[in-house]
Amino acid sequence: MNKPIATVARTNEILKRFDLNAKKTFGQNFIIEPRIVEKIAESSQCQDGAAIEIGPGIGALTEQLALRARHVTCYEIDERLKEVLAYSLEEYDNVEIIFEDFLNCDLKTKVTELKEKYGKVVIAANLPYYITTALLFKIFEAKVPLDAITVMMQKEVADRFTAKVSTKDYNALSIISSVYYDCVPVMKIPRTIFNPKPNVDSAVIQFRVKQNPLNIEDEQGFFEMVKACFKQRRKTIYNNYREYLKDSDLAQEILNEAGIELSARAETCTMDDFIRLKGVQDEHKYI
Ligand code: SAM
Repeated sequence: MNKPIATVARTNEILKRFDLNAKKTFGQNFIIEPRIVEKIAESSQCQDGAAIEIGPGIGALTEQLALRARHVTCYEIDERLKEVLAYSLEEYDNVEIIFEDFLNCDLKTKVTELKEKYGKVVIAANLPYYITTALLFKIFEAKVPLDAITVMMQKEVADRFTAKVSTKDYNALSIISSVYYDCVPVMKIPRTIFNPKPNVDSAVIQFRVKQNPLNIEDEQGFFEMVKACFKQRRKTIYNNYREYLKDSDLAQEILNEAGIELSARAETCTMDDFIRLKGVQDEHKYI
């Protein structure tokens, strides 16, 4: 039995064997602390189900998921890791690795297929920091029936999900994620447990499916509208919204009807405000 991949000794052995350097452009920072990957896997709710991992790297977290889940599907962009992962994960026959940019994958089809076969599907990942936001938007907007999403990201980005209205961290992602999920902090991670060491600390957070998800009719349209309202944070909601509608008078009328001050900023608006705004906007379409 090999030592866990996340140990310093095993990570160094793997990197040396394949003469592998972490690629900055792919946001590669490998975890070198077994207790951290164990805790992420343990809290991911993958037990008895299937897990999807974004960016397995050399397999540190994948191994812990494979030990707990019935099946693990990974998406990895870096083709250099093909032979590395074939070696590091050779003991595990329940891991499938797809070498593809996660942003291009057909998530809905994959989750549906896994759900039919294994009943439960979760996402677990130490996300590449350079595209954390894009990856999360992809997951939230895919509207797929995931049971939980447990992800490590830069601490500053994680803070946005638990941010309250009218704080500097409150943004479009806070709103969009909370349509389906409640966000729960799992743990803070010091920068010292990575190879190479990043310049920032991290945090693991978990998105849990809401017991009573909000019922929003045109979700795609709602997400677009929310993103547009936050487009330029220093601008008022009116200025962002009129650019989105390409009609200043109509923007003013809809905001007035929705009871939102023209001088307000998006970060002072609650979920209820945005739902009301979308409702009034939809009514105007039919006038
Ligand atoms: N899971 C490993 C760990 O925790 O040690 C590595 C995490 S590292 C922060 C991010 C991983 O995501 C790298 O393996 C990187 O190559 C991969 N990655 C980066 N962009 C990606 C993308 N668009 N799609 C899939 N994988 C990506």
